[in-house]
Amino acid sequence: MPTCSNCSAALRAEWKFCIYCGTPVGAEADSEAIPAAIRPESEPRPPLNPLAIVALLLACVGGFPALIFGHIAMRQIKRTGERGMVIARVATVLGYLWLVATLVLLYSAFSG
Ligand SMILES: [Zn+2]
Repeated sequence: MPTCSNCSAALRAEWKFCIYCGTPVGAEADSEAIPAAIRPESEPRPPLNPLAIVALLLACVGGFPALIFGHIAMRQIKRTGERGMVIARVATVLGYLWLVATLVLLYSAFSG
């Protein structure tokens, strides 16, 4: 038989509150039953990696340095568990495309 955590009175299992002092019964057990995923703000989301954003901006304005920043960002995210892995990966791929495009342009400019 459960007892009240406040006044130690004997309680019936179906009671939600202690009828003697009004203390909620089994409140702790209830909150533990809630899965971590829907427990509000128990574990704040990790911050977005700032380098991943820089890399994506570079990739948007055009420039192969995006792939350098993307690689550094991915390494940081793996180490720190920050968010932004997808952003860093997209920026890296775009950076490679810019690199290829730049090399093709340079090649055609100097060969012709
Ligand atoms: Zn009580």
